[in-house]
Amino acid sequence: MIAKVIVDVPVSRTNRPFDYLVPDWLQPLMDVGSRVIVPFGPRKLQGYVIEVAEMEESGPVEPNGKQPALREVEQILDDVPPLTPELIRLAQWMSRQYLCPWVTAMQTLLPSVLKGKAEKVLVPTEALERSVAVGSPLLSELLAKGMLPAADAEKRFPQEALLVPGWIKAGWLASEYRVKDRVTRKTVSCVTLLLKDEQVEEALATLPARAEQMKRVIRHMAMFGGEPMPVKELLEVLGINRSTLKSLEQKGYVRIEEREVYRDPYANRRFTQAVRHPFTPEQAAVWAPIAQAIDEGRFASFLLHGVTGSGKTEVYMEAIERTLAQGREAIFLVPEISLTPQMVERFKSRFGNRVAVLHSALSQGERYDEWRKILHRQVQVVIGARSAIFAPFRNLGLIVMDEEHEASYKQEETPRYHARDVALWRARETGSVLIMGSATPALETYALAARGRYQLLTMKERVGNRPLPRVHVVDMREELREENRSMFSRKLYAMMQDRLQKEEQMVLFLNRRGFSTFVMCRSCGHTLRCRHCDISLTYHKTNHTARCHYCGYTIRQPDRCPDCQSEHIRFFGTGTQKVEAELARLFPGIRVIRMDVDTTSRKGAHEELLGKFRAGQGDVLLGTQMIAKGLDFPRVTLVGVIAADTSLWLPDFRAAEKTFQLLTQVGGRAGRHELAGDVVIQTYTPEHYSIRCATRHDYQAFFQEEMLQRRRAGYPPYFRLVLVTFSHEDVPVVIRAAEEAAQFLRPRLAPTTQLLGPVASPIAKVKDRFRFQIMLKYRDEPDISDVLGRMASHMDDWLKQHQAGMTIDMDPQMLL
Ligand code: ADP
Ligand code: ZN
Ligand code: ZN
Repeated sequence: MIAKVIVDVPVSRTNRPFDYLVPDWLQPLMDVGSRVIVPFGPRKLQGYVIEVAEMEESGPVEPNGKQPALREVEQILDDVPPLTPELIRLAQWMSRQYLCPWVTAMQTLLPSVLKGKAEKVLVPTEALERSVAVGSPLLSELLAKGMLPAADAEKRFPQEALLVPGWIKAGWLASEYRVKDRVTRKTVSCVTLLLKDEQVEEALATLPARAEQMKRVIRHMAMFGGEPMPVKELLEVLGINRSTLKSLEQKGYVRIEEREVYRDPYANRRFTQAVRHPFTPEQAAVWAPIAQAIDEGRFASFLLHGVTGSGKTEVYMEAIERTLAQGREAIFLVPEISLTPQMVERFKSRFGNRVAVLHSALSQGERYDEWRKILHRQVQVVIGARSAIFAPFRNLGLIVMDEEHEASYKQEETPRYHARDVALWRARETGSVLIMGSATPALETYALAARGRYQLLTMKERVGNRPLPRVHVVDMREELREENRSMFSRKLYAMMQDRLQKEEQMVLFLNRRGFSTFVMCRSCGHTLRCRHCDISLTYHKTNHTARCHYCGYTIRQPDRCPDCQSEHIRFFGTGTQKVEAELARLFPGIRVIRMDVDTTSRKGAHEELLGKFRAGQGDVLLGTQMIAKGLDFPRVTLVGVIAADTSLWLPDFRAAEKTFQLLTQVGGRAGRHELAGDVVIQTYTPEHYSIRCATRHDYQAFFQEEMLQRRRAGYPPYFRLVLVTFSHEDVPVVIRAAEEAAQFLRPRLAPTTQLLGPVASPIAKVKDRFRFQIMLKYRDEPDISDVLGRMASHMDDWLKQHQAGMTIDMDPQMLL
């Protein structure tokens, strides 16, 4: 027996299967998709079996007429292969699509326990426990102790250990992996800025000029309102050293502490049986084609475009139920942020213990346990964030992708896959039904649906004819003209007073995605934009410049607005703490529940705060993105958006789309129940179409306008993008790498393809490494992966020799 194995050496030269002989004693367990230990050169490596073949009489023959001597597989690590044949093909597809080694893709599909240093143990099965007489010392010991580390078994019972694969196959014992993280609490080291807003400038002035790194930390943290940030993130984003943080701590400017993060919130929870509602006419209309596709058991893809509260989730659950009734399995994907206890509860109460939940707050061990329920076919439904798309089901019938427009579906490290692409691949490959749902579909998705690539299903009404909230847009320039310099407009202020009087609840939303460092005129709403790229310039405080992160175009920060000559032009951004202070000043006695990284990092804090708000212990829920979706509070009748523009002028061609999505989602929080709702959107650019369209709940109009803009500027869905990023400690080297790659690519690209750059990346230095990038904009380039693959091979040696890094991001989501 021969096993074809992909070994764990992620470079292009080893990106193909190698043949190994399977010794007799291992043959009972040898299966496609298992992990094995094999000799490779002088080393022993882990590998993945992608094919098992019988020895041919006359195998491959070398030029000298001899058969090459095959080396032997040394160990098989799994009794149930963790990769199905379908997943092996998926990994191969991903390696081509996203330009990464096959083995890297395979590892991506598995829980991290299987990659790390977890210990393999043998455990007795029920069959062994029931058996009367056991003659084997190994098995007796196993029964007595309940488990035995595999390494011990081999050392102490070398002869019997050879029989273990056969025993596993016969169902006497099983192997599993144990990690030590089950009891330990998950904590993260965090930094908190101890300076008040008014102390920041003073501290900056006090620090010596050469303490540039310390200043950077203070400025960065002050920009985010002093919220605690993970040490790891600060080091990465700012490219500073740990010693810088230590110095700041000694000076008393920051505090560094271990903060606990939230573990399994569903343990020890009982779920009540769900009530099932008869479908509304709109639900029934979208349900018919879905049900038909499920019954036919063939590939079909749907885009379910339904306003918030139209009953999409009910339709998903019905589809899952129907799929299970067919004996097939279902994956339900949600963005991490909406994997709320409420959402899980809804599923658990409908499907009970047929559901596995995969979310990032689980420890490695807990994740592995949930994943094993899928592998061992103990569950038929998995609900989880991005990576749940890799669930090793063998009889998949349905994939649902809720909030399909969410950026978190894209993985921002190698392999840079999008869960939507993977979902489409798996649905096609397995003849499954794919439902993508959203109130605000991604432009790319809607464009494909409009062209008939996905079947478009629409729900325009909220369940129970609850009206969509009234949306009021307030022009903050007008407020300034009327001498109102507060962050609350007169309208929002008045409505808040009204709600306080009526004892109704409100949600205040601070739109602060990414770095809010664009430059805007507070008098006229004018923002500084790049002349060549049609995106906002990013403000750089260090040298008072504004720079385009696509092409490098730079100007000095102007003192006056180029449009209206006002002096009120400056960079923009507000923190939740500031808003909270302002609320206390304007509305004495108001009860504010603030939800941000600061108040929710403690274990269970998230749920606790929401519970308090639900119980009416707060008048205002104040927060960032994390309150924008998924929450459902009956008593909320007012939603205020403090500054809608903050995401509008980010240096990202998707800025308008993201703003529209955010405003629509936030609006969805108001008036979901009996009480009617109002939404107040404060903005400096009320005439902008993303704000106008969100106000009217008019996705169609937004889609059409945005498509025009994208066509004009040459962005997706009209053009596709590739972002190639280079990194090195020295600027000249990183520039040379980027130039070299650009030179290789230029003559090989179609004439219609644009190559932008090389130019410094938006975050120009990470972990002391400088970064440069090239962006490709292409329309008609069928061999793009191939060209990029050849470029990668071409660069391979050079990059290794210079220890430079390169990443290729197909269809990038994050351009910051
Ligand atoms: P969406 O996912 O589109 O935001 P949901 O499925 O969460 O909408 O439905 C919104 C609310 O309406 C939920 O509280 C849900 O239980 C309820 N609901 C959904 N469908 C029906 C129905 N057919 N009859 C009555 N209530 C429904
Ligand atoms: Zn530019
Ligand atoms: Zn102006």
